[in-house]
Amino acid sequence: MAKTPFKKKYGYGSKICKRCGKNGPGIISKYGINMCRQCFRQLASELGFKKYD
Ligand SMILES: [Zn+2]
Repeated sequence: MAKTPFKKKYGYGSKICKRCGKNGPGIISKYGINMCRQCFRQLASELGFKKYD
């Protein structure tokens, strides 16, 4: 069996919203966003995204 070098970044519980500090499921870590959906939606609207759903 080959060992897969997993990075701890994707460990459960290591996701924390960098905006409000909330953690748990629902944190978007794609693209290095690292924000909860709520904050992402707020930021998205600030950035000009009309919809996120
Ligand atoms: Zn948040």
